[in-house]
Amino acid sequence: MKYYRYVRWIFLALGLTAVIGLTVMNVYSLYALHDNKVQSSVEKQKRQLMEYTNQVRSRFRYPVRTLWQLDMEEVKASLTSPSDVHHDLVVIIEETSRDGLFSDIYLSTPECAPCERHGDTIWHYQPEIGRFAATTEYDQLVSDGLGITRTRMNALVQDYRWNTRVIFDTHNSMTVALINSSSREVVAYLLLVIDQDFLVTSYMGPKLADTFGTGEETGIIVWLHDWTRNEVLSTTSPEVAYSYQNVDFIQNFPDLLNNWNLKATFTANPDIAASRASLTRNLFVLAGAMLLLIGAFVFMFFTAQRERSLAQRQALFLANVTHELKTPLAVISAAGENLSDGRVTDPVRLKSYGTHIFNESLRLRTMIDRLLDVARFNTKNVRIRKIQTHLPDFLQDYLKKKKSYLESHDVILHLDIDEKVPQIEVDQSDLQSILDNLIDNAVKYSHDGKFIEIRINSSNEHVSLIVKDKGVGIPKEFHKYIFDKFFRVEDALTAQTKGHGLGLSIVKDLTMRNGGTVSVSSTPGKGSVFSIRFPVTDSPVPQNDTSSPIREQTKQQEPEHVP
Ligand code: ADP
Repeated sequence: MKYYRYVRWIFLALGLTAVIGLTVMNVYSLYALHDNKVQSSVEKQKRQLMEYTNQVRSRFRYPVRTLWQLDMEEVKASLTSPSDVHHDLVVIIEETSRDGLFSDIYLSTPECAPCERHGDTIWHYQPEIGRFAATTEYDQLVSDGLGITRTRMNALVQDYRWNTRVIFDTHNSMTVALINSSSREVVAYLLLVIDQDFLVTSYMGPKLADTFGTGEETGIIVWLHDWTRNEVLSTTSPEVAYSYQNVDFIQNFPDLLNNWNLKATFTANPDIAASRASLTRNLFVLAGAMLLLIGAFVFMFFTAQRERSLAQRQALFLANVTHELKTPLAVISAAGENLSDGRVTDPVRLKSYGTHIFNESLRLRTMIDRLLDVARFNTKNVRIRKIQTHLPDFLQDYLKKKKSYLESHDVILHLDIDEKVPQIEVDQSDLQSILDNLIDNAVKYSHDGKFIEIRINSSNEHVSLIVKDKGVGIPKEFHKYIFDKFFRVEDALTAQTKGHGLGLSIVKDLTMRNGGTVSVSSTPGKGSVFSIRFPVTDSPVPQNDTSSPIREQTKQQEPEHVP
């Protein structure tokens, strides 16, 4: 039984740990899911960036895509003079010259080395006449492009299996080496000068916008950046200023446009925003479910605890009641037996037996009344007969009836009563039970010299009945329990005092069903104050009957010792 209590706590702790553990796991999974979504969205955008660079590369190759079909032997043989260049090669060049991407086209034989000696003669394509013409007037970038390609091809040509090879000189030129793959020698170099304006404004810029849209829609901002000059050539979001700190990813162009690259910043796209919104929603639902579960757990646990302690107190109560019913009954039956025998004739003893029987039957009645009160509340249809009541008048009648009780317990009674309080609508038998219980308690829990003060006063909305004693008082931590059924403060004095923990629960139930409230304030060793407040009804205040003995006492405001 002792361990049972710990097992319950252990199970509560395990249950709570399981709920919290499950919640933490779920939160972790939700975040992992969201991160995956963000990651896959970012990966997709990285693939798009790479795809973009491949497409740019294809765009450069497109005009010269048929060069590989040429017979390189024949091309070589035709390169005796600019006007004899192989017809098929001229056709391809003619078509290429119409592409705005290239501003000039030059042809050079491997023997000619303009990179080494700028100003050597090379052949320049003239679109107006559809032929090449020899020239020594060309830009430095032409000799640079040819020089780079010659150097690279010298190293490559022996191991190279194809008959064309494209080599870029940054964003300035593209040179195609025409190769005789059987003899592994370069036949000619075709240099195409790149029109950078066209490239950026007519091709790469629009394509960037087409592929990546605006930053808000797609969750990515891309800058086409010349990193050697730190200059933005084009961007998908002109309103966002480029800053290296914002760059999340850099994509270079493979083998071409070496001085340029794509710089990207990943922002939240609608997919990620939706995933974040769903994450937040799920977290809220999870938190709600967790709180509900924990709440239900704790509620069930403490309700079970409460039920258990109520059951224990009920069992104790039954044992006590049985015992206490037996004691007066035993006294009554013993006295009754003696009297019925006729053996007792002495008038003093006769009186004593009579008093015993009377007192014990009173005790029995009080006990049975309490039980009936409790039983009444446990049945649903409790009848209530509320009538307009003037509390000071009611108290006066009540104290008359209670006089002998108060006298027998040596109570010093002090009354402080405002006669002008308005009427209240209450069941008078309930009111009597309330007073009975409060006064009985004040008497029970006071040492010798029992002092009780009863006050009646009112505000605009309430009439208050206050019962104060100078008894043992109630420790603060028990104030919230004393109105529970079967609750008794566990201390030495209560242990010596007879009771079942029902009086105050009856007071509370009766007060509430009459629309009132009850409260307590108490200091151990100094006494307790129980306040009952009833709402006022609209009925007028009755005229004072100044002849009442209680009113006389009230006026004097002197503590009264009920003899
Ligand atoms: P009981 O039959 O034990 O008096 P009650 O419901 O009337 O049951 O009171 C519950 C507990 O509250 C009592 O056991 C007692 O400890 C405490 N109590 C009630 N009234 C007073 C009072 N006037 N002074 C001190 N303690 C009180």
